[in-house]
Amino acid sequence: MSAQIERIKTLIIGSGPAGYTAAIYAARADLKPVVYTGMEPGGQLTTTTEVDNFPGYPEGIDGPSMMVQLQQQAERFGTEVRIGMITAITLSDEVGGIHVATVDNDKTIEAETVIISTGASARYLNIPSEQRLRGGGVSACAVCDGFFYKGQDVAIVGGGDTAAEEASYLANICNKVTMLVRKDHMRASKAMQHRVTSLPNVDLRYNTEVDEVLGDQVVEGLRMVNNQTGEKEDIAITGLFIAIGHTPNTDIFKGQLDMDDTGYLITKGKSTKTNRPGVFACGDSQDKEYRQAITAAGTGCMAALDAERYLATIETPEEVA
Ligand code: FAD
Ligand code: NAP
Repeated sequence: MSAQIERIKTLIIGSGPAGYTAAIYAARADLKPVVYTGMEPGGQLTTTTEVDNFPGYPEGIDGPSMMVQLQQQAERFGTEVRIGMITAITLSDEVGGIHVATVDNDKTIEAETVIISTGASARYLNIPSEQRLRGGGVSACAVCDGFFYKGQDVAIVGGGDTAAEEASYLANICNKVTMLVRKDHMRASKAMQHRVTSLPNVDLRYNTEVDEVLGDQVVEGLRMVNNQTGEKEDIAITGLFIAIGHTPNTDIFKGQLDMDDTGYLITKGKSTKTNRPGVFACGDSQDKEYRQAITAAGTGCMAALDAERYLATIETPEEVA
């Protein structure tokens, strides 16, 4: 490891809507935030085309442009945005303690406060046709993209609460929803199962998996396979929704921060406070329920306000440049 060490007031890990909103508030509060972007500068929204449900864009906006605008807004108030990954971190458990982060296995950052906005990654099937058509009709977010398939035939993969919830959401908008569940039963709660099975335009297929997504530039159909009989069947669809779970990007905090059994960070009450003083979590890294850009931005704002209040209550151990 090199000898480069830098002391800052506020380190923001992640550059999605949560991280940039935290940066806007932190910069305006003179916390001189430094944002490390990680491997996906701009976050999950850079993987989608149209964002139609973020307030303030009456005509909608494409995800990458929206994230550039958020970055510019954060930079306007003095946020420093750096390309880099936090590869290790040691979080102090003392009030007023200094947290030590390593960037790209090289540089060391000492921070008085840390805002975690590392998001979560949607799981995909990882078959070639699905990967090729991501953004061309394959989506991991029905609430975000379902509207584009109004009145059309779509399919959804998964048997958990998310798949069940998204299938009912799609059934309200779309003509027909084919739901592929790989087992002979759903993992979703009984109430959610009941909701799905009572919908006349949901065609529930058990023991069924995706064999191939059909289409060249955009999704035109789906080849399904029954994993008991091996029988294949093609259906015409324009959208395929993958709802097989998310993985929060919280591995580097394991053993230091409280998290649930699926890795989502646990925050205290209505705040963004974690179990370590001066460490705050926002966005999808701590939210398995809503997972929207606007809720991520909202909690990003909260994290910056929590960090500001925390700093105001402690004596600064050393003068910060
Ligand atoms: P993310 O956007 O996931 O950003 C996480 C950031 O953390 C990334 O910049 C990543 O590089 C960084 N990071 C991770 N680990 C590290 C590390 N160790 N060091 C440094 N940086 C790190 N929501 C809507 O409201 N409307 C939509 O239309 C919509 N469409 C979507 C379409 C798709 C295809 C997907 C996948 C999601 C969509 N969503 C939409 C959901 C929305 O994108 C997320 O809820 C939102 O991006 C979460 O924001 P976040 O800031 O918490 O995390
Ligand atoms: P989940 O509970 O982990 O369910 C994932 C589903 O995807 C399972 O049915 C799983 O099948 C299936 N799956 C996984 N990998 C697959 C693959 N490669 N191919 C096909 N299917 C695959 O995830 P979730 O539904 O996102 O829910 C996450 C958590 O949030 C849960 O605790 C859930 O209760 C909660 N949640 C609650 C609500 C609500 O209460 N309204 C709404 C959403 C989420 P198997 O069952 O065969 O493993």
